[in-house]
Order: sequence, then structure tokens, then C-alpha cells
Amino acid sequence: MTDRRRFLAASLAATAAATLPRDTHASPTKPAGRLRPRVVSTWDFGVAANKAAWQILGKGGSVLDAVEAGARVPEADPNNHSVGRAGYPDRDGRLTLDASIMDGNGDCGAVAAIEHIAHPISVARRVMEKTPHVLLVGDGALQFALEQDFPKEDLLTPESEQAWKEWLKKSEYKPSANSENKTYGAGKPGGAGNHDTLGLLAVDAQGRLAGACTTSGMAWKLHGRVGDSPIIGAGLYVDNEVGGATSTGVGEEVIRTAGSFLVVELMRQGRSPQQACEEAVKRIMRRRMKMDKDLQVGFLALSRAGEVGAYAIQKGFTYAVCDAGKQDTLFDSVSAL
Ligand code: ASP
Repeated sequence: MTDRRRFLAASLAATAAATLPRDTHASPTKPAGRLRPRVVSTWDFGVAANKAAWQILGKGGSVLDAVEAGARVPEADPNNHSVGRAGYPDRDGRLTLDASIMDGNGDCGAVAAIEHIAHPISVARRVMEKTPHVLLVGDGALQFALEQDFPKEDLLTPESEQAWKEWLKKSEYKPSANSENKTYGAGKPGGAGNHDTLGLLAVDAQGRLAGACTTSGMAWKLHGRVGDSPIIGAGLYVDNEVGGATSTGVGEEVIRTAGSFLVVELMRQGRSPQQACEEAVKRIMRRRMKMDKDLQVGFLALSRAGEVGAYAIQKGFTYAVCDAGKQDTLFDSVSAL
């Protein structure tokens, strides 16, 4: 059983600040005197992802290997219906996956709307390392994955197919994510949330960062719909000079604001990760809440000094933090509403 300790993110910020050199807290762009390896990720299922990443990072391994290993955990989980295998399909019953990976030097790779490949995060990494490109989509992404010897599989489980058939009865197309409503079980292993993304960020003892983001996107989406998760700068952005950010919630709104890039740039200008997440969320709210009062977007950020921030529009966004002190801590994000 997970040791679930919940605090407000404010108390996390205080803890992080207490364990970090003060000057790096105030200005994450300055080189830190002493850096602290740390992994953070979105939602309850981030706890297990963080632990897998820590197996590598905690032994001084590569930060890129760590984030990939972390992302593969929810991708493989048959009880997780919003990431990888067993994800909920699109309107036509096809399970399409989005993923991106990035390191703090600006190297990045992504796949969007890929089918039949259980670990899109690993294909994204191959795009980054084996091609001159950043993003492959649909059939092209599948073709590349097969060339790279990824197995072709049927990823739709009977349970996910059944949920889709239930949805078909009404076919109500509302690509709005308010699954923080506990009846949907958002972000919970086995929960029936209609969305949610694993966004994972890690920093090593040298201040090198990497991030990974993986999702099946909005359940029952139009075939071919791509969310924020595989779009570098939207669902994920990482810069060794500053830190990284990742997002969850309605991907269209995150793309419209280049959300994760915005959070990192706000940090570069001197905002703490917490302040940067808050500003990005509030900007989205100012522009978009009048169209959808149920709108949910959440950001999670990590500075190169290891300071953490998280903020969401609606209540219920959780995030997991893992470092040498503790590997399975889960927090409730502060929210605007
Ligand atoms: N951001 C994801 C998407 O729009 C879904 C989520 O994280 O809730 O595809």
C-alpha cells in the first residue's frame, strides 16, 4: 500500500525551499551550489512511475533513461484507461496514443495518434535519437516503430471496448475534461476518468533535466485528434538553464497557450515553479473559462534546483514527488476554484 501523504502544494514549496539553497529558490537560472536529484509526475499513477524512474536516477543513471522508464509504467498498466495499453479509444473505437520526450539540451522526439504500439514513449525517444525529425504521426509513426522492431499489438482491452460501447449508446461528444469529479476516478489506477496524462520531469545531481509525457488523450475523441502531450512546448518543455514543465487537462487549451513553454519562460524570468504554474493557469482561465466552466487544465513544474510547483483550475489534480528522502509522496495541487 502506498504511503499516501497529502499536503497542500504550498507546504511542499516550503519543504523544498527549506532543503534547497536560498539563492537557487529565488533565481532558478543561476547555477545552484548543491543540486538535488528529484522526480515529479502527474496524478496518483505518478507514484509508481516515479519509483521506476528513481531506480535509475537514484543510482546516478541517465535522466533520460529515468523519465522513459517512468513513463513506461502507466503505459503498461492494464487498469489505467488514459495512458498506453487499455486506454479508452476514440469515437470510432480506435485506440490512438500520443507521447513526447525531451532533454534539457533541447533534444526531443514525439509520436502522435500512433496505434498498436504499447510504449509510445520509447518510439518518441527513437524519433529523437534515430531521425532528424521531432514528430511522427499516425501511420508514419507506426511504420517507423515497426522498422525499429517494436511489436504490433492489439491494445484495446475488453474492458475499454465495453466502456466505448456504453458511450456509443448516447454518443455524447463533449471533449471537456472534468473528471476530477470523483465519480469518474480521475488519475486513479483503475479509475474510469475520460482523460489524464502521465507527465514526468526529472533532474539529476548535475542539474540536467529531462521530461516525458504520455497519454491516450481524450476518450471518445474524433479520430485523428491530437492533444497537447506530443506537442513540444505544449504538453512538455524542458530547459537545463531553467527547469521543466508538463501539463494535463484539456489539451486544446494547453496548445493554444503553448502552456509548458510558457511556464518555463515565466520561470526563466524569475518566477518560482509555483508562481509560473499559477500564472499560466490563470491566463487560460481569463481567456477560456467563459466558454466552459468545467474546464480543467493543470501544470506541474520542476526547477533545475529541484523546486516543485503545481496548479490547476479545478480541484482534484494530484502529483507525485520522489527523491532520496522519500519515493512515494503524493500531493494535492492547489487549484484556482
Ligand atoms: N492533456 C490530455 C489531452 O488533451 C488529456 C489529459 O491530460 O487529461 O490529450
